[in-house]
Amino acid sequence: MNALATRIASLIAVEGPLSVAQFMTLCLHDPAGGTYGARDPIGGDFITAPEISQTFGELLGLWTVQAWHDQGRPDGARLVELGPGRGTLMADALRAIAAAAPDFLAEAEVTLVEASPILESLQRDRLKTSAVDISWCKHFDSTLTDRPLFLLANEFFDCLPVRQFVKTAHGWHERMVTAENGALAFALAPAPVPPSMIPPDRAAAPDGGVYETAPAALALTEEIAAAIAAKGGAALIIDYGYDQPGFGETLQAVAGHKFAEVLAEPGESDLSAHVDFRALAKAAQNGGAAAYGPVTQCNFLADLGIGPRAEQLMIANPTQARGIADAVDRLVNPEKMGALFKVLAIAAKNAAPLPGF
Ligand code: SAH
Repeated sequence: MNALATRIASLIAVEGPLSVAQFMTLCLHDPAGGTYGARDPIGGDFITAPEISQTFGELLGLWTVQAWHDQGRPDGARLVELGPGRGTLMADALRAIAAAAPDFLAEAEVTLVEASPILESLQRDRLKTSAVDISWCKHFDSTLTDRPLFLLANEFFDCLPVRQFVKTAHGWHERMVTAENGALAFALAPAPVPPSMIPPDRAAAPDGGVYETAPAALALTEEIAAAIAAKGGAALIIDYGYDQPGFGETLQAVAGHKFAEVLAEPGESDLSAHVDFRALAKAAQNGGAAAYGPVTQCNFLADLGIGPRAEQLMIANPTQARGIADAVDRLVNPEKMGALFKVLAIAAKNAAPLPGF
């Protein structure tokens, strides 16, 4: 067992088994050994769209400006990014926004929500030459809901912790992480959960079927939607995930660009789960807003003009044309990231339709 696994096993010895969500939080955010708490996994363990092509952040910036424009250019908007990684998406978005609509930035407040001190310092460094003042906070909270809210989140919701419930002949039991014979292991909680905790469309699962839910993701989406319903703005959530829920689990560990064992080396792999977009859309509606999509990343980016933008870049940088085309292909090709990644947006019910949907 690595050092974090040993500490998790000691915690289990004192407090009893952990939910999968508690385990995931420790693996991701532990300050001494967590994937984000103690290091930067982006590039080494996995790669994200803004790190692949500058067109991604640029188009998200232009999407924001278009939504702001269509809502009557409200003064003093707030631009928020959740989980900004290395700050690349925001750097590219701000460059595009500054070119297309400098008046958006003149009045806007830009805030990055980042839990990891290590990633925050990378973001500060990446954005230090930015023309706008940027502030940071650790969590999305009510201080961010006072103005029209324009919010971007790429590969953020997949790292929010999931709970898992497994169907057995005796009802649904929560899947827990326990420690046995010097190793971490999965085990089912002995008592079943009340049937009301399982949504009706999952109740028909076969024995062994798994219901996975991300309570923090749902609560956060509802809070964002309520802020947008009250003050205007729009949110864009991009992630890998599904629209039609199944009966399988999606929790996964990735290290060095390969799948790894979830329990094997806590903190040394990146734990994430596929995003249940239907549940997020419902949470947005519960918050009083309208949900758009999900649509596939390939359709969304094509609609926003990734093709012409890539051509422009290739003409301006002929020696890099091949690399630019390959990077864009990776984002939009349905066999690469184009179909697995999906895009959900949130706006007030009476707002102008959002671009890309
Ligand atoms: N959006 C970036 C990074 C994705 S990795 C990109 O596309 O490249 C996930 C990011 O979310 C990291 O910056 C990570 O530190 C941050 N993060 C994960 N869980 C978080 C939480 N609960 N609160 C705030 N930030 C979190």
